[in-house]
Amino acid sequence: MAEKKGKLIIISAPSGTGKSTIIGELTKDESLKLEFSISATTRQPRRGEQDGVNYYFMTVEQFKAAIAGGEFAEYEEVYPGRYYGTLKREIERINGDGRNVILDIDVKGGVNVKRMYGDEALSIFIAPPSIATLKARLEGRATDSAEEIAKRVAKAEFELTFADKFDHRVVNDDLATAVEQTRSLIKQFIN
Ligand code: 5GP
Repeated sequence: MAEKKGKLIIISAPSGTGKSTIIGELTKDESLKLEFSISATTRQPRRGEQDGVNYYFMTVEQFKAAIAGGEFAEYEEVYPGRYYGTLKREIERINGDGRNVILDIDVKGGVNVKRMYGDEALSIFIAPPSIATLKARLEGRATDSAEEIAKRVAKAEFELTFADKFDHRVVNDDLATAVEQTRSLIKQFIN
């Protein structure tokens, strides 16, 4: 579900793949002129997360009202009852500042946005070296319950089947290498 606008970098990955860390590193690189698109979500904030920084945290009612009001460029029910969406005003704000939008969205959203924007968008799939590594990372993060981790691992197995629908795939085995590979793909795309 989406509407076309501007030029975008799409980063998708199973949760726990190191995607947020990679995006954090890349947004620090001024030569890329990237700005993170803050999504709206109905999930609860994790420890340390701030409203308007990591996400715009909304109730399901607020989110549904935003859908009805046509406020989203795209949205997905990423987990049952948990909605995540890219607000049109967020993309407009970033494009209006002459910067490149970087989207951290789920694999379905990533594939949809790439389909809509075509050559205007670069889609990169960040993959874990293996499912076992991913599980260990989620456990190490200690921000989610065991039940939540089991859900995310099952979902990751499904999400990995989407990797070949992206323009590029980067395996995050070594973080610094993954950051450099992603940086170089973005540099080629925006130059
Ligand atoms: P988390 O709860 O771990 O922050 O995110 C869960 C999943 O939702 C991740 O795959 C993340 O990329 C995805 N996600 C975050 N924001 C959006 C969004 O605006 N749209 C879509 N489609 N997925 C999103």
